[in-house]
Amino acid sequence: MGTIMQDVLGGLGHDPDDGQGYVMALDAGTTSVRAILFDEYGCKVAQAQRRIGVRYPHPGWVEQDPVEILSRQIACMIEVQYKSGIHSDRIRAVGITNQRETVVVWDRTTGQPIYNAIVWQCRRTAPIVDALVADGRADLIRERTGLVPDAYFSGTKIKWILENVEGAREMADAGQLMCGTIDTWLIYNLTHGVEHATDYTNASRTMLFDIHKLDWDPELCEILGVPMSMLPECRPSSGDFGRVSSDIMTNHPPISGVAGDQQASLFGHCCFEPGSVKNTYGTGCFLLMNVGPEPVMSENGLVTTVGIAQGGEVDYALEGSVFQAGSVIQWLRDDLGLIDSAESTCEISRSVADTAGCYMVPAFTGLGAPWWDPDARGVLCGITRGTGRAHIVRAACESMAYQTYDILKAMESDSGRTLSSLEVDGGASENDFIMQFQADLLGIDVQRSEVDETTALGAAYLAGLAVGYWGSKDELVANHAVSATYVPDMTPAYRERLLTGWREALRRTLA
Ligand code: ADP
Repeated sequence: MGTIMQDVLGGLGHDPDDGQGYVMALDAGTTSVRAILFDEYGCKVAQAQRRIGVRYPHPGWVEQDPVEILSRQIACMIEVQYKSGIHSDRIRAVGITNQRETVVVWDRTTGQPIYNAIVWQCRRTAPIVDALVADGRADLIRERTGLVPDAYFSGTKIKWILENVEGAREMADAGQLMCGTIDTWLIYNLTHGVEHATDYTNASRTMLFDIHKLDWDPELCEILGVPMSMLPECRPSSGDFGRVSSDIMTNHPPISGVAGDQQASLFGHCCFEPGSVKNTYGTGCFLLMNVGPEPVMSENGLVTTVGIAQGGEVDYALEGSVFQAGSVIQWLRDDLGLIDSAESTCEISRSVADTAGCYMVPAFTGLGAPWWDPDARGVLCGITRGTGRAHIVRAACESMAYQTYDILKAMESDSGRTLSSLEVDGGASENDFIMQFQADLLGIDVQRSEVDETTALGAAYLAGLAVGYWGSKDELVANHAVSATYVPDMTPAYRERLLTGWREALRRTLA
């Protein structure tokens, strides 16, 4: 409470409102929850943030406390109002974006979770997935949901809770349980149980959702043993999700925007046109391409998902991720001691003209799309007596761009569309060397958004559009500002030479 009181005092007398009001975005991430206020220009006006704990009860198991997530999220909603002096009467709408695939099961009568939230990273349901695949269910799952069967998605996590928590199966069969991803858990509690709802983007990550019909698939629910009575109602991402209860925000503003974090980021980057792509360079990289109103099934092991569901339209997306991106930089710093800070990698990389033929393929945990080799392991190749620290650091930085390149080429080939530019955000997108190298490799412009909170901004945009705070997507495009554009500056012949070396390094990596 001490900090809130300081914020109250600090916030008194501050009145930046010009009459338009603000939109509040709740960003419920894996390591922290935040509440952020945006103005009509899409500028961040104030934010409050709280860390949340993670538990690892067994190797490979990852859990969080749903009540902690909720209470810290509410604390942020209250704190940001006091901090800024902007109170709920001037908050026109609330948007929610969240870590995807993390699931909570709770008692319909008491509202109490019957188990911890099982987090997206948790691998405990891998045997359930293996059994589904062994039963020949992979094609059905893929056709209906667009997903490659994996423990990552939430459906098998619900099944695990029903099978392993004492009495859960009986309660579920009696209609006594409810479930949902973190968006649903927050909506349910912020509306005091009035709304049990999710949006299409979050639903499309459960392995229970038919992305063509945009509703739960009874056959998949049956296969996974999840009674449909437990599931929330599926709605478009921009629209009515009830109102925040007046004991949390006195003016009880509407919750009118909901999307999973990567899809919210796609929206925040204004990737409204088919063929537009965003890449978030964090610990891993998350790429989403808007492929338009028809879902595109991948031939390259990418996932098909709902991208944007707003204004009566649905755009689908292809999604791919790079498992090891910024984490490679952490490895150089924390394990090898080659660098002092992540930021220093830009200057070190630029201190040499090239990697002198050295390549790093950071397949620490296997290779993902489009190579899919879980047994592949990392390689550092092309080393000579002349290879120095800067060459290795540069090869590590370049590996993020090469892996991104491979996914983008797979997206182009699956969608039949050619990329015109790439929108980027995330910690490692601050590295000018990597972003320039990315532009050089792709032969297209790379644009870094001015707002570093594109995920939260996307949720705010979805919420604001639904209530008329913004009149149309054109207004959002007008807000869209880039802080840097990287223009390709590499000859096609040189690019091809580099890519040939990368492919050779990949070949050595595959198991
Ligand atoms: P996440 O949301 O996944 O935690 P962030 O977007 O905060 O990730 O980015 C942090 C990651 O980016 C870390 O893995 C870090 O090593 C890497 N990173 C941060 N700054 C830089 C930089 N200037 N150059 C290269 N990598 C960086």
